[in-house]
Amino acid sequence: MALMDAEKMAQLREKLLERKRKLWREVKGQIKTGLGESYQDLLATARDEEDQAQVNLLEETQFSLIEPKRQELVAIEEALQRLENGTYGECEGCGKLIEPRRLEIMPETALCRDCQSQKEKIAKASSR
Ligand SMILES: [Zn+2]
Repeated sequence: MALMDAEKMAQLREKLLERKRKLWREVKGQIKTGLGESYQDLLATARDEEDQAQVNLLEETQFSLIEPKRQELVAIEEALQRLENGTYGECEGCGKLIEPRRLEIMPETALCRDCQSQKEKIAKASSR
């Protein structure tokens, strides 16, 4: 099934790649500012368990800050894969076509609105 013409696909691909580059810059920036010199200093002075706990805490905080971006990067990568495979625009949950407006706003999404809200409900319930 041809969902879109080649020109549109090329545009979409560029859009996803651009987003990916931007996210990487942000992630790198965050790591640099967050885990910068103070982290290096801390690492150098971390001798006992208490110090080590501080280092771990700092790392966890940084990773949790980056986590949403990391997930988005994975989603973008998968969207690029789907473009290659010609399955882009199909919902991974129910197989229906994702709303074009939704793809416009979130080109990396793999789920239609219904499946997404379903997934969020499950995520919410399991995080309790
Ligand atoms: Zn769906």
